Amino acid sequence: MEATTHDVIIVGGGPAGLTAGIYARRSKLEALLIEKMAPGGQVLSTHWVDNYPGFPEGIAGFDLSDRMRQQAERFGLAIVSDEITGASLEGPEKVIRGVEREYRTRAVIVASGAVWKKLGVPGEERLAGRGVSYCATCDGPFYQDLEVAVVGGGDSAVQEAVYLTRFAKKVYLIHRRDQLRACRILQEKALSHPKVVPLWKRLVESVEGTDQVEALRLKGPDGLVPETLPVQGVFVYVGIQPNTEWLRDLVPLDPQGFIPTDDRMATQVPGVFAAGDVRKKMVRQISTAVGDAATALLAAEHYLENS
Ligand SMILES: Cc1cc2nc3c(=O)[nH]c(=O)nc-3n(C[C@H](O)[C@H](O)[C@H](O)COP(=O)(O)OP(=O)(O)OC[C@H]3O[C@@H](n4cnc5c(N)ncnc54)[C@H](O)[C@@H]3O)c2cc1C
Repeated sequence: MEATTHDVIIVGGGPAGLTAGIYARRSKLEALLIEKMAPGGQVLSTHWVDNYPGFPEGIAGFDLSDRMRQQAERFGLAIVSDEITGASLEGPEKVIRGVEREYRTRAVIVASGAVWKKLGVPGEERLAGRGVSYCATCDGPFYQDLEVAVVGGGDSAVQEAVYLTRFAKKVYLIHRRDQLRACRILQEKALSHPKVVPLWKRLVESVEGTDQVEALRLKGPDGLVPETLPVQGVFVYVGIQPNTEWLRDLVPLDPQGFIPTDDRMATQVPGVFAAGDVRKKMVRQISTAVGDAATALLAAEHYLENS
């Protein structure tokens, strides 16, 4: 059982959590970051980051994560390894419950991020970052004049399919049903685009390729003969899952489980702030995560001064 009450506890050590940690320590707050895996979050497994400012040639995701961690540690941020499973957030002293122990704090920054749902087919994991992507904004420009596929039928899938037409020669839109779930205006935009080729009622059976994606094996309904679709990239948009299971019934969440905040990143629970992909918001990128985190931490500091 932890006796000390921290000024601020940050849950999650991705770009949002590490940025909150840097700001907290530079403000001389007594801060603790709790991360269940290695610090870095989704960036740790991102092959190459080309759109984060300050790296004119781009930077490997692993190196960017490592630099953020080093910077946070330079200011003396304490990082512990634990998985948070619950909390008591009402009142001025909050208790955060981990698998290893309990932690006490006056303010909380929720930076536990999100995970993109996988297709769960052979080849997907092996070729992730080698043609399999979950982020068109991040990886789209690598597919200039190539042929790619987008899997999914919701707003994200259809919007990103249209975005990918800026680069790719052809964008196959693979959906398991015979109509899209995306809003009408997006559907019309995608389906009227000359580069977008919808493939209805198809399931991806496997992702094929040696070192890079070379093709998808598709199956139609009722056991139709599988077909091979040669593509150099596949963008998977079958849903994103926020890591908010531990917050259920503690902080109001939207129907998908994301945390609504105001423009100070405050949740509806006093002293609890959220930053990064875990928030209900439009754009989930490293730059937006670090921006959220700077705001969240400074708002938390203001809360601490006034409570
Ligand atoms: C394949 C891929 C490529 C991408 N490429 C780019 C790119 O090129 N450019 C770009 O800007 N963005 C890119 N992104 C998006 C970017 O990585 C995210 O927007 C960013 O990482 C969000 O940061 P975050 O700190 O909010 O969350 P995350 O990075 O998701 O970090 C959350 C952290 O919280 C930890 N955590 C979760 N639950 C708990 C718990 N209960 N207890 C303790 N710890 C917990 C997780 O282990 C994780 O380390 C990419 C994403 C993916 C998946």
